[in-house]
Amino acid sequence: MTARIIDGKAFAAGLRARVGAAAAEVTAECGRKPGFAVVLVGEDPASAVYVRSKGKATLAAGMESFEHRLPADIAQGTLEALVDRLNADPAVDGILVQLPLPKHLDESAIITRIDPDKDVDGFHPVNAGRLATGLAGFVPCTPYGCLLLLRDVLGDLSGLDAVVIGRSNIVGKPMAQLLIAESCTVTVAHSRTRDLPEVVRRADIVVAAVGRAGMVKPDWVKPGATLIDVGINRTEAGLVGDVDPACAEVAGAMTPVPGGVGPMTIAVLLRNTLVSAARRGGVTLDAAI
Ligand code: NAD
Repeated sequence: MTARIIDGKAFAAGLRARVGAAAAEVTAECGRKPGFAVVLVGEDPASAVYVRSKGKATLAAGMESFEHRLPADIAQGTLEALVDRLNADPAVDGILVQLPLPKHLDESAIITRIDPDKDVDGFHPVNAGRLATGLAGFVPCTPYGCLLLLRDVLGDLSGLDAVVIGRSNIVGKPMAQLLIAESCTVTVAHSRTRDLPEVVRRADIVVAAVGRAGMVKPDWVKPGATLIDVGINRTEAGLVGDVDPACAEVAGAMTPVPGGVGPMTIAVLLRNTLVSAARRGGVTLDAAI
């Protein structure tokens, strides 16, 4: 068996196009474009690249992009004052503070300062609580992107056995919540899990979010399973995921790295900003978004 390779790049392009079309409708109804504000503190080169591509994608979807670049030695109070201004600004529907922040800043205090109804990254504890209790809110972009791919490949996920490897607040935990809401039977595995290969072997769906190159091996995989590889590992051989590509011999479908989950993150960020603008402007969106 050779797995179907899930084309996240193509799916993300389709999502971005749908978001762009809906953004034009929201703009016409509200008399202003959906607005996305991104805050970058310091000069971390990887963060600067992410912020630039988020800004470009925002403009390409017909939305307004507000970029705030602040020096690495900024005081906590000054950054909080900026977040307060963005919270109060009617032109801003979505706020993202690029992480990680420099060590002297209290990251958790900044995240909880963002208005939960503008928290398009979905990292605010209020949004984590909404996700856990089935209320409408914002879901972190990467796990939501994984869910969209899973629904596209498998349709109804109800009753399937899912294993999420990794329990971080930004990927593993929200991924598990989303799969529970889809009526999967969910196991969350992590660094202390005993006999991980045996746990993974039971799964119809595996989401790997660890950060260890090629960790999931072909003999861990149930024949026909769907594998979603969130891992991004820089190796001498280039960018690789957490799933050994040889798993394609056993799996039914799997995401490649790069070109799988990666492109979904920014597309979902645009989607969340659009949803925020529509909610704030009282516009009803097509359910497909
Ligand atoms: P993290 O470091 O916060 O969490 C890693 C998790 O892996 C932890 O919960 C830990 O318990 C678990 N783990 C560690 N060693 C393990 C082992 N031997 N067996 C089983 N579990 C183990 O990482 P994160 O932020 O959740 O990111 C995970 C990976 O996903 C990273 O490679 C990251 O670069 C990538 N990532 C990609 C995207 C994207 O594609 N857009 C977004 C976020 C993260």
